[in-house]
Order: sequence, then C-alpha cells, then structure tokens
Amino acid sequence: MNKAYKFRIYPNKEQCVIFAKTFGCVRFIYNRMLADKIAHYRQTGKMLQTTPAQYKSEFEWLREVDSLALANAQLNLQSAYKNFFSQKRSGFPKFKSKKTSRARYTTNNQHGSVRIENEKLRLPKVGLVKIVQHREIIGKIKSVTIERTPTNKYYVSILTEYENQVPEVELRKFIGLDFSMHDLYVTSEGERANYPRFLRKSERKLTRVCRWHSRRKRDGNNRERMRLKMCLVYEKITNQRLDFLHKKSYRLTEDYDAVCIETLNMRTMGRTLKFGKSVADNSFGKFREMLDYKLYFRGKKLIMLDKWFASSQLCSSCGYKNSEVRDLSVRKWKCPSCGTEHDRDINAAINLREEGKRLVATTVGTTGSNAFGEDVRRLQPARVERSLDELGSRHFYKWR
Ligand SMILES: [Zn+2]
Repeated sequence: MNKAYKFRIYPNKEQCVIFAKTFGCVRFIYNRMLADKIAHYRQTGKMLQTTPAQYKSEFEWLREVDSLALANAQLNLQSAYKNFFSQKRSGFPKFKSKKTSRARYTTNNQHGSVRIENEKLRLPKVGLVKIVQHREIIGKIKSVTIERTPTNKYYVSILTEYENQVPEVELRKFIGLDFSMHDLYVTSEGERANYPRFLRKSERKLTRVCRWHSRRKRDGNNRERMRLKMCLVYEKITNQRLDFLHKKSYRLTEDYDAVCIETLNMRTMGRTLKFGKSVADNSFGKFREMLDYKLYFRGKKLIMLDKWFASSQLCSSCGYKNSEVRDLSVRKWKCPSCGTEHDRDINAAINLREEGKRLVATTVGTTGSNAFGEDVRRLQPARVERSLDELGSRHFYKWR
C-alpha cells in the first residue's frame, strides 16, 4: 500500500540553485519531447518515442541534474498522451510554462539514494536538505517530489510503500452528511459545519492586490513584489481552507465508523453559475477525498450513495415521499403523512445515514432479509456499485 507524506524543506542558497536548474531541465525536456512528438507526427503520421538520454549530447547541461527527474518527466508526458487517447475528459498534452506551471520534479529512491539522514533529507545531486519532519514516516521510500510554491517555499512529498496494516473495524457508529451550499455539510445529528467563507472574506484584499499587480510594469521588480503579495493572499486562503477541512474530517473519522454521503457531480455543480463560487469555495471534492483516505487508513468506510436516492424528499420518520421538497427553496417542511416537522438538510442527512446502514447490513445478512430484518430484494446494489466505479476511486466501499 502507498502513502504520501508532505513536509516543508529549507534548502540553502546553493541547493535552491540546483532545484531551480532541475525544475528548468524537467520543463525543458518535457516541452522538447512534446514538440518533437508533434513534429514527427505531422511529418510521418507516426508516434515518436524518445528518451531524455538522446538529448544529452545536444544539450550538455542536462547532465548536471538528476537523471531520474528527467526520466519522470518522460513518464509524465507518456501518461498525458495515454490519458488523451483513453479518457474523454483529458485534453491534448500542453506545453509547460515557466510562469504558470508548477515548479516541481520527481525522483526515485534507488538503493537508498533518497533517505532521511541525521534528521535531514538526502537527495541525489543535492545532498542533505533541512527538513521539518512533523511526523514519522512508515514504510519504504519509493519516490519524492520536490516542489517550489509561487511564494518561494519548498516542500517535499514522500511516497512510501508499506505492508497493509489497515485494521478490521466493525461498523457500529454511522453518520450521514448532507452537503449544503451554506455550511459545507449538515450531519444527521443536526450539527452544521459552519464553514467560514474564506475566499469571500479575503476578496476585497485580493482585488486590491490584483489591481496593484496589474498596474505595475511588465517584468519589473515592483510587479514581482506584487505578484508575491498576491500569491501570499491566495496561499493563505488555501491554507485556511485546508486546515478547516482537515480538522472537520479528522473529527468525523475519529468519532464515527462509517460516513454516508451522497454522490455529487462536482463538474455539473460547479458549472451552475449561481452556485459556482460557493461550491469552489466550499471545496466539497477535497473534503470527500480527505474523508475517504482518513477513513480508509482507520479501517472505516466512506459510503457513497446513489445520486438518485431521494435523500431530501423522504420523511425520515415514516418514509413518506414528498416531491414538493424537490424545490431547493423549501428549507423546512411538515410531513403530510405523519406530521413530523423537518429541517431539509438534517432530514436528508438522517436518510443518508439510514440508507448507509441498510446497505452495510445487507452485505452482512446474505439472503432474504438483512441484519435489521429488512427485505434485501428491494435494494439495487448494482446501481450503487456502478456509480462508485464512475468516480474511479480505489477504495470506495463496494457492494457485492
Ligand atoms: Zn412522515
């Protein structure tokens, strides 16, 4: 099993220079190979396969940097090509730009060429780099990715491989989450996430800094200073958001064994203009990802329910389906059948929790009725499984 760790590193001046060279060479080889592939295809109609080594005699300076970084650039280009031909959503590989592309490279650990030594990180061609290792690394280091952020901070992502140690957990405590535009989510226990609108809070500052930036002369020193200011604002928003999401997902995964959520299509949601900004700001997708891996490493489950499951329309006390609630503006409603007063979001979350429980129970009891004595035949696990597959995740809960 693989796990990635991210740490901040503090390279000295010379190491920064080596990093900068490596970022540049990786970008160069990627672009060069892409350009050659395109030219070759235009001339012959065939695919061109090249390796970074073939370019080293023409461009001597490529020898100065970690050759595995170049090899990984080649692999990246290959997978970008493969994705273009196999997946509808990926476009044709783009050229990397010095200004807008991320400054990063990946290198592999070959017989200990990458390791932690005297509380420092050893990297090929770079030597020992100061690292703030805020947590222990479990397993064998496979590869590392060095990244420089737009605000000139350096980070390393360490990918490790280790024996599967996920504990077996009996799923007892369930919670349902209804994703909401205003709070990020509402739980079946009635708790609201109270998501602070980080982007909106910093919006005025951001527009101001962006204006300063755009008014400076191109390629001037002042423009660079303003760019840094602008990036710092963005960085702060991102960090605030991630911090919030990590804390919330940590709490949920510690307190519960299974989190039941609805499958949401982020693409179409983001496209809906009215919600565009708040969805982006809310970062549902990121949150789901965090829940997913945090639960997974604890032996717990994220249960994704079919998006056709009418979580908001069902009465959680009697099961009556009230299609009037389909209208998003209905925040509170009274069940016409049993008279229970419902808060739209909490009711939906309870339904998700109960549906999740039901699905888990059906995998326990195999025939006829499940552990809760319900009729299994009413369920359509095949549909649930398909919608999980569509998401393409490795370890979402699968129903068999
Ligand atoms: Zn009812």
